[in-house]
Formats: sequence, structure tokens, C-alpha cells
Amino acid sequence: MDSEHDQGRPGVPRRTFLRIAGVSAAGAVVAACGPDTPSVPAGSTAPAATTATTPATRLPTGPPNWDDLRTQLTGGLLRPGAAGYDTARHAFNPLFDSNNPVAIATASTVEDVQACVKAAAGRVTIAARSGGHSYAGYSVPEGGLVVDVAALNKIDVQGGKAVIGAGAKLRDVYAALGRAGRALPAGTCPTVGIAGLTLGGGIGVLARKYGLTCDHLSSAQVVAADGRTLTASASSEPDLFWALRGGGGGNFGIVTEFTFDTDPAPEEVTVFSLHFPAGSAAGLFAAWQQWITAMPPELWANLVLSGGSPVQCRVAGCYVGGAAGLNTLLNNLTTNAGARPSQRVVKSLDYLGAMKYFEGSSNRQSFIASSRIITTPVDAAKVVAVAEGRQGMDLLIDGLGGAVAGPAKDATAFWHRDALASVQVYAPATAKNRTKVTQAVGEVVAGLAAAGAGGGYVNYIDPALPDWKAAYYGDNAKRLVDVAKKYDPQNVFRFGQGVIS
Ligand SMILES: Cc1cc2nc3c(=O)[nH]c(=O)nc-3n(C[C@H](O)[C@H](O)[C@H](O)COP(=O)(O)OP(=O)(O)OC[C@H]3O[C@@H](n4cnc5c(N)ncnc54)[C@H](O)[C@@H]3O)c2cc1C
Repeated sequence: MDSEHDQGRPGVPRRTFLRIAGVSAAGAVVAACGPDTPSVPAGSTAPAATTATTPATRLPTGPPNWDDLRTQLTGGLLRPGAAGYDTARHAFNPLFDSNNPVAIATASTVEDVQACVKAAAGRVTIAARSGGHSYAGYSVPEGGLVVDVAALNKIDVQGGKAVIGAGAKLRDVYAALGRAGRALPAGTCPTVGIAGLTLGGGIGVLARKYGLTCDHLSSAQVVAADGRTLTASASSEPDLFWALRGGGGGNFGIVTEFTFDTDPAPEEVTVFSLHFPAGSAAGLFAAWQQWITAMPPELWANLVLSGGSPVQCRVAGCYVGGAAGLNTLLNNLTTNAGARPSQRVVKSLDYLGAMKYFEGSSNRQSFIASSRIITTPVDAAKVVAVAEGRQGMDLLIDGLGGAVAGPAKDATAFWHRDALASVQVYAPATAKNRTKVTQAVGEVVAGLAAAGAGGGYVNYIDPALPDWKAAYYGDNAKRLVDVAKKYDPQNVFRFGQGVIS
């Protein structure tokens, strides 16, 4: 066992290091109900969401009265030209720096959110912003109102529950949970918002053991399109509660607070990364797909194919348990693949230490990305061929299964319960080469589909994905549209890939 912590190389940013190490900087995977998580019984039929709770009254027209709204807000409102506007509009991805929202509201209370919705509904597009990591810049709509909920970031962990404000960032969520000795499966980037992550599912390095972030949601407080505040849970607004667990951020309303069921934090999490010599990608990926399917849920792993000539391949992940148990499982992979790692790092940490190990950089990143989902093993050689010669592009293949596969496909809005892995296609881009990179990512996505990987993950939302609604939501799409029409009959929260579109 090599206990040296492989923390990057000089000059290599942390996120890049994570990709090099085989860790999905934009995420990991997985899911399922944690032991305390209430869920809709497997196989239950989704009740139709037909009755509109909001009568479809005519919405006002004309521009909102911004001065009036400003006086109502405790947090402030910025219009173009105001000091601070230019930086306040920035999302995580600088490619969206050219988006010009008509106003940016800082919501520090539920009443602030209500005031924003009431003032702007029907007049301009309204988008909530939590962590600002939307891959499509949907939280910074051109000409729309940004309702920034970052100040709603209180985290209260008591017993088995964690009450988390919708603006909390993952870094703070993990720190608070770690202090309380509790765990919640979530993503890897420290500045991703709990809201966007949870609403789209929430894939992370403990997903095979504990499930998706949304699987631990027990209730949410939501400001609806008519400005009312609703509580969504198994017993209150159950349609909305169903939709909030995987239906994607930006739809249905603005969440102000989440309550999660947590698990006791594992005492030991052993992290690992294996680097393999050039030429081993296809054999390793073929073996990896069989291997991850057979692994216990305690083990999570991803495999990264880095485009180029030849395609490079790394495997990384973690194991809820000690190094001895992990090493046996890793040996299964390398033996079956007939590949010897050129570098092997194994390190035992506590829960918080492991979450920090996977933490990517909080620096802004300029990129184009998309995704596909692997349900049954794909032709590994075909996938590697798709990545051949594509320097700088990564295919981050995150193992799913385990607890993610627990709930039925229609038990929550998250459709990909039977997935073996998600594949994120990630390519750095600049404003100058954006069109070219978008085209290259699209070609790889098409190549993945041809190799047998369909579907897509809504949290890696891609405006260029041709079959996006079916890809994200499968047969759950129709019910999601019904729920959106019930809670937002006039499509106040519309956006490019909103479920009503
Ligand atoms: C560097 C990086 C790492 C990532 N790592 C992971 C990972 O490990 N696992 C994973 O599953 N995903 C990961 N993702 C994807 C991430 O989950 C999505 O991009 C997610 O939508 C980001 O949420 P956010 O709140 O930060 O973004 P935002 O841009 O603020 O929001 C995303 C969407 O949700 C809406 N929204 C925001 N707040 C609310 C709210 N309060 N109520 C209703 N709608 C809201 C927005 O309008 C927007 O449509 C990563 C992304 C990046 C850029």
C-alpha cells in the first residue's frame, strides 16, 4: 500500500488533478434510499397531478416596479449599471459572463423570495440561483430576474435531521455534518449549491452506499409561482415532493429550505487512485464495467478516459471501510483487466477528510459539458475510439448502482435507477472556441449513444442535447410536466430546458 497522498502536481489546478487522478471533479455518482429515508413504495403508481392548486389568473404585464421591490427586500437589488452588478451576475462558468439579467435580487428571507416572485411573475423570466453552477447558465437568465438565495445558508444538524438553507454550499454542508458526526451523500465541488444539486438528484462518492442526495430529502419549503410558501413532503404536496427529487432545478418553484435525513458518519473512508499505462484504456474500461456492477455498495469508483493519442485511463474512488478490504477489491479489477497500475495511491481518512480529499477547486471554470448514462455495459473499444485524438476532453464515468438502484424508477423523479454509470463529457472552452468545443462534445455524446449509452443527467444540463427531456426523465417526463403545470400553470419559471417547454 502506498500511503502517499497524491495531491496534485505543481501547476496543475486541483480540479484538473482530480480528473487526472480519475476523480470526477464535476461529480461522482449514485444513490438510493438511506435507511431513514421515507420513499414511495417500489412499484407504486404515480398519482396523476391534474388539479391545479393555483387558479390560472391572468398575469400582469409590463416591467416590474423595481424601486418598489427594492424597498421590500432585506437583501438588496442590483440593476445594470449599479456598482457590483457586473460581478454579481457572474456564474461559476465564465462562458456566461455575457448574460445580462435585468435585475439581481439578494434574498435573505423567505419573504424576500415571495416579494420577488410576486413582483416579477409574468413580467420577466425568474430564476433562482443557489451555487450558480448551472452548466447552461440558467440561473443567470438574459433579461430576467435572478433571485439569489445564497444568503439563505443556515445549516442546523440535530439528531438524524439536517435543515439546510437553499443557498448553502457543499463545503459548508459537509463541515456542519462532519462536526455533528453525521453524513449526507452529496457532490464533490465545494461551491456547488445544495439546491441545484438536490433538485437534479445529487450524485457523489458515497452514492452507492447511501444513495442520491435527493433520496435523503424528507421535506422542502418552496415559494410557488403564485408567491405562496408550500411545504412539500410525503404527506404535504406529495406531487411536488416527488418532482423535487430529481426533476431538476428551476422547475416547480423556488426552494428556500431543505430537510434531510442523515446517517451516522462512517468512521473510516479509504480513498484511492490508480493510474494505468497508455494502451490499457479499452481493456480496463471493459473490465471496470463488469467489476463495478459486482462490487459491494461500500465501494464507489469512477473511471476517467482522457482524450488524446492514445487515450489515457485512470480509476479512482473510495471505500467505506479499511484499506485491507479495499485492496482485495482493487486486485479483482486489475487482475480481470490484465492491467498493472503504474501508480497506486490508497489512503484511509475519516468522513470529513474523505469529502475534502475529493473536493475540487472553487476557482471558476470555463467549459462545455454534457452527459450520457450507461445502463448495460457498452462497447468499451467504441467509447475509447470516440475519445481518441480529443486532447483536453475528459469522459468522467462515475459508477452508480448500489443504493441508487433501491427506489423504483417512478418512486422519485430521478429516472436512472438502473444505471451502471453516468458519463460526463467535459471539455475546457473559451468564448472564442466555444462553438467548436460544443460541436466536439456533441460528437462524443452522439458516439456514446451509438455505443449504447443513452439518457442524460439533468444536473449536467446541456442545451444542445437533442433528446434532452426523454434523456433526463424517461417515462417520468409526462408526470413532471403535469406537476409543473399544476404548480406553475403559467410557466412563470420558464427556461430553455424547463419541463414545460
Ligand atoms: C465544478 C462542478 C462540480 C459538480 N459536481 C457535481 C457532483 O459531484 N455531483 C452532481 O450530482 N453534480 C455535480 N455538479 C452539477 C451540479 O449538481 C449542477 O450544476 C447543479 O445544478 C448546480 O447547482 P447550483 O445550485 O450550484 O447551481 P445554480 O446555477 O444556482 O442552479 C442550477 C439550477 O437550479 C435552479 N435553482 C437554483 N437554486 C434553486 C432553488 N433554491 N430552488 C429552485 N431552483 C433552484 C437554477 O435556477 C438553475 O436552473 C457539478 C457542477 C460543477 C460546475
